[in-house]
Amino acid sequence: MGYKTQKLYEDTYLIRDTAEEALYLIERNNKAYLIDTGMDHDSLKEEIEKFTNLPVIVLLTHGHIDHIGMSGEFDDVYMDPKDLDVYRIHMNMHEGNFESEGLCFKQPEEIKPVKQQYDDLKVIPLPGHTPGSIIILDPHNKAVYTGDAIGSGCGVWMQIPYALTIPEYKAGLETAVEELEKNGVDDTWKFHGGHYGQENMSQVQRPNPLTLQLIKDMMELCDRLMHHEKQDFTEVNFISDGKPFYTAWKTAEMILTKERIV
Ligand SMILES: [Zn+2]
Repeated sequence: MGYKTQKLYEDTYLIRDTAEEALYLIERNNKAYLIDTGMDHDSLKEEIEKFTNLPVIVLLTHGHIDHIGMSGEFDDVYMDPKDLDVYRIHMNMHEGNFESEGLCFKQPEEIKPVKQQYDDLKVIPLPGHTPGSIIILDPHNKAVYTGDAIGSGCGVWMQIPYALTIPEYKAGLETAVEELEKNGVDDTWKFHGGHYGQENMSQVQRPNPLTLQLIKDMMELCDRLMHHEKQDFTEVNFISDGKPFYTAWKTAEMILTKERIV
């Protein structure tokens, strides 16, 4: 049990919890922004206090249990309200490794609607994996924090309950790419997902880092699925609300159910 914390940029830490969920702590203008709160039973607040004494503002990328588990330790928590239903289900989850018992959740009614901007950090919606998934841009470090919105290097999970359909995901990706490019994001920016080490579990190349190109490949993959182009589908065994399959196109990988292709 326990956290592993390392410096990612001059003012930014990567915090890994026991299950290798990746949380990020960004110090900016006398505040500390914490992206996601993991699913560890040890105090996250105590871990963070080893590295900063600035007031902490929590930005939840989405409402899944492995991203919200210690949110109750913090006063100031923000999330897209479109994920509140998912959040309520996940704070009462008892499914294998996804066990809410022993975690510390912020009460949903105390979670504030996420803003578009915090200092120079920009919030961009990228619905699909969940209805209210967001990604966060840090222009200072040329970094984008993506939670689970595009996966973490071995496929985005679109097979789970409450994930949107493939056409809805495609639309979300399209809008997000427009916003990213409007903000100057290009291939020199680094993308950081919500789970550490998964880029080495890819089936297309290892490592398969998250990139702007991967998001564009994901759009193409959505198009191929929507137009019923020939794709290889491999059966997999993950938590799902139907029979889950893996499929890929260029650098983009996805777990989905065929019902999601409409
Ligand atoms: Zn998730």
